[in-house]
Amino acid sequence: MRIMLLGPPGAGKGTQAATIEKSRQIVQLSTGDMLRAAVAAGTEVGLQAKSLMESGSLVPDELVTSIVSARVDEPDCANGYLLDGYPRTLGQAAALEDILAAKGQALDAVIEMKVDDDQLVKRIVGRFSCGKCGAGYHDEFKKPKVENTCDECGSNEFKRRADDNEETLRSRLMAYYKETSPLIGFYTCKGNMHSVDGMGSIEAVQQEISALLDKLGS
Ligand code: ADP
Ligand code: ZN
Repeated sequence: MRIMLLGPPGAGKGTQAATIEKSRQIVQLSTGDMLRAAVAAGTEVGLQAKSLMESGSLVPDELVTSIVSARVDEPDCANGYLLDGYPRTLGQAAALEDILAAKGQALDAVIEMKVDDDQLVKRIVGRFSCGKCGAGYHDEFKKPKVENTCDECGSNEFKRRADDNEETLRSRLMAYYKETSPLIGFYTCKGNMHSVDGMGSIEAVQQEISALLDKLGS
């Protein structure tokens, strides 16, 4: 299955992607994670992306598209993949159509996660992740089971994203509404658009997505 998760920052895409990856055996492709890794490694791509990401702006379409295009050719994507954070503009969506068409493929489902702005701010400001394995946590909504210890790998090191503050979030939200939300219309026209209520608990959203994927798969 090839799935895409669509929604503003903090909607819960990364959280749900981690579950889908495990339960459906398809790999999660987060362009945000790939770009942050490039920034940390100081690669050419990372240097181009760094300041744009820090200010909450989008990186150029060609840059992310070339990353995704190479990534979906890798063997672990043969079984399907889950796009998290790409495409983010109509230009990227058109580029993705070309990438898929060249392989005779299509997206099976685009899943929009709907969450109110006030809730997005709460989720983003309390978000942190494991410094070792990347597992996601939240000060209020998803604390590690044992304080200061990652549930997945036992690490005691955690990190917070530089752009996860209220000020940068406002720019990221503006970018989402301006550049990304038009994709809802694009995929509605294509006929593979589905929406889920992202305001519920992590488990409730998980169940709604799972029921949707079961329905599409059968
Ligand atoms: P995105 O990938 O869409 O930016 P995340 O999955 O990182 O969003 O979620 C943002 C924060 O909100 C995380 O800290 C996560 O633990 C928390 N979160 C995700 N989904 C929910 C939910 N349904 N209810 C409460 N908190 C959530
Ligand atoms: Zn961990």
